[in-house]
Amino acid sequence: MDAYDITIVGAGPAGLFATFYAGLRQMKVKLIDALEEVGGQVAVLYPEKYIYDVPGFRKILAKELVKSMVEQAFQFNPTVVLGERVLSIRKVDGGIFQLDTDKARSHYSKTVLVTAGVGAFSPNKLDAPGVAEYEGKGIFYFVKDKQLFKDKRLLIVGGGDSAVDWALNFSNWAKKVTLVHRRDVFRAHEGSVAELMKCGAEVKLFYEVKRVIGDGKWVKKAVIYDNRTKEETTIDVDSILVNIGFRADLGPIRNWGLEIKGREIKTNGRMETNIPGVYVAGDLAGQVDSVKLNLIATGYAQAAMAVNVAKNFIDPTAKIFPGHSSEMKM
Ligand SMILES: Cc1cc2nc3c(=O)[nH]c(=O)nc-3n(C[C@H](O)[C@H](O)[C@H](O)COP(=O)(O)OP(=O)(O)OC[C@H]3O[C@@H](n4cnc5c(N)ncnc54)[C@H](O)[C@@H]3O)c2cc1C
Repeated sequence: MDAYDITIVGAGPAGLFATFYAGLRQMKVKLIDALEEVGGQVAVLYPEKYIYDVPGFRKILAKELVKSMVEQAFQFNPTVVLGERVLSIRKVDGGIFQLDTDKARSHYSKTVLVTAGVGAFSPNKLDAPGVAEYEGKGIFYFVKDKQLFKDKRLLIVGGGDSAVDWALNFSNWAKKVTLVHRRDVFRAHEGSVAELMKCGAEVKLFYEVKRVIGDGKWVKKAVIYDNRTKEETTIDVDSILVNIGFRADLGPIRNWGLEIKGREIKTNGRMETNIPGVYVAGDLAGQVDSVKLNLIATGYAQAAMAVNVAKNFIDPTAKIFPGHSSEMKM
């Protein structure tokens, strides 16, 4: 049995920083994520947005932050397992944890750090004929690469922050941006909505997508309709970006024997859970008597605490305080 010192479940900001820290503490570390890419919410939900409250950066594009986090996290060569969702954690012989995944694989570890954020998340799908057929062929739920929309006719569906922010973002990038929203009230920030109305995008309120049409290879047209009059309009599109929210699912984590309230695993100031050897950090951590701040910076601090406490758990002679990295030979 190849048991790691620490296995980190979730490769968002908290998990990536924990991976770095565990390497710094010379621990044998494994990082597992259900997604095929690292970065968690930052990579999946808002890669093209600027973040202004990460220590050390006046502002940084989310995807650039992911790149930097990866560079820092992977310098000690951790084992990285992507595309595997951890389904269960249980103790086996010698106090080692066995983590079973949806790929029918088992991982073994002396300690486990759960940095699973809001859980494995998936976008709400647009329910209209043709949409499933053209998903990935012009219809997208996330923006992975802005280049795909350069000088293209883009239809954006939704009325929340993501839809409005992308409409603003692409108004000078795409050839034409049309935004359809089924109501006349937006969930998005009112300042952004005011900007949207001036940015040159065509905003169609009370409109929904009826069906999409393609040539078998790529989406070509969208039939939209006014949900008050039922009048239909067909528009030519090169891409459709659907931003109608996402659902997050803690799923199997609820059955790991951890004390969970709502979307939080209960933890103390040492990031310990009710199971000795299992720690939590990031959005998923519900620290008793603490203020809940679901921020990248908070997750970083919690990750550092969790890893240092875990180090001391597996080697009681090791100090919890790691020393200053500025005084280490790296
Ligand atoms: C639109 C938006 C804008 C934001 N802007 C900011 C901002 O400006 N500044 C800021 O500080 N914060 C911001 N945040 C919040 C910030 O992104 C989160 O606080 C942060 O991502 C939480 O990090 P995390 O590592 O705890 O979890 P996450 O980023 O949620 O990552 C968790 C990872 O765990 C994985 N996972 C879940 N369950 C399993 C499982 N069973 N097995 C394997 N893997 C699993 C998921 O796939 C995911 O990759 C924003 C959030 C959103 C949605």
